[in-house]
Amino acid sequence: MGQIVLKSATLPGLDGNNRVVDVLIEGNRFSRIAESGIEVPAGAEVVDCSGFAIFPAFYNGHTHAAMSLLRGYADDMPLQKWLQEYIWPFEAKLTGADIEIACRLAFLEMIKSGTVFFADMYWHRERTIKVVEEMGIRAAVGVTFAELLMTPEQIEDNFNFLAAHTGESERVCLAVAPHSVYTVGEALLKRCADFARAEKFLVHTHLSETLKELEDCERQYGCSPVRLLERAGMLDSNLAAAHCVHFSDDDMKAFVDSGATAVLNPNSNLKLASGIPPIDRLLRAGAKVALGTDGDSSNNNLDMHEEMKLAALLAKVQGGAETLPAHDALKMATVNSARAYGLLDAGEIREGFLADCLLVNLNNERMVPRHNLVSNWVYAADSSCIDSVICNGKFVMRGRHVDGDEEIIREAEACAKRLAAN
Ligand SMILES: [Zn+2]
Repeated sequence: MGQIVLKSATLPGLDGNNRVVDVLIEGNRFSRIAESGIEVPAGAEVVDCSGFAIFPAFYNGHTHAAMSLLRGYADDMPLQKWLQEYIWPFEAKLTGADIEIACRLAFLEMIKSGTVFFADMYWHRERTIKVVEEMGIRAAVGVTFAELLMTPEQIEDNFNFLAAHTGESERVCLAVAPHSVYTVGEALLKRCADFARAEKFLVHTHLSETLKELEDCERQYGCSPVRLLERAGMLDSNLAAAHCVHFSDDDMKAFVDSGATAVLNPNSNLKLASGIPPIDRLLRAGAKVALGTDGDSSNNNLDMHEEMKLAALLAKVQGGAETLPAHDALKMATVNSARAYGLLDAGEIREGFLADCLLVNLNNERMVPRHNLVSNWVYAADSSCIDSVICNGKFVMRGRHVDGDEEIIREAEACAKRLAAN
């Protein structure tokens, strides 16, 4: 079992009081955190952290990792046109090998911006799982259902893949991922919900993202997307619903009562002009709220720090300057996203919790002066302040270096160029 001692790290308190601590990581967990110093076990690696603050790593509650190759391919148009005329035709050309290249680029980007976990919804899940294992991070890999784009055989194959728990491991779990109410019909939504409940999977979907989705749903089913999920038996505490931009008061009540988590993606919503997620209303109603980036093609990056800051700022415009203080915005991007995907012992620097953390450079100009480190981290810093990233007790970035980064970038550029050309 690997042992690491993070020596003399600054542990920022949510109340503004910081502690200088030694942190012992044994295997994949924080086993001891002490101000008085820790006796270094024989064979443990000691890392001098006197210039660093230790923060929880980010957990990205909604993305499409392999869409990294579509960054900048089509911008500045509404969601439906963007999907139907650009994104879906490009995606139809992606092979399994392309997906691996795309995932490496995405995971490099995640690691460099401090993210150690993502909830994914995409195709070629085996390839995604393979690269997650290779690069040392965590994922809830969504097995994606989009009836419009799939054959009946592919749908059966999805259920078989899930039933066998294919590819699950210490760092990888699977989720049932019906894409949305506009790509999956009511009968299949119901089957996904029943299956997830019986087999104890979490469900990850898109919900109430655009007004068009609401209008079409109303026309086709005579109810809102939230009520349709309820009718299908999907609206419960095992649901992580991305976007949640357009909720009526009735939707809000049904959603909050169900215990589902709203995974907000404000950058993507603003860029696609889908709307502004009702952060203040969700919080006032008592909803569980987490954050995600959505894909690289609609954000156009996977930087959870940007998402966290934007969520805090939008919440203030909606509810006043006291709404969503820095420490709560940080929780949305860390522990709340982890919990939404069943990681109940992650997202905080706590004894017994999974050893996922960031070493943030206290001497970066954005972290000075140090009146309040949590405030600096949420409102002033950016991902370049992150020196090192630890996931599951192992460094995945050290001194801003990630193994293989140059080759990952070279391969991704060549692959995207080839795909765009034919
Ligand atoms: Zn999405």
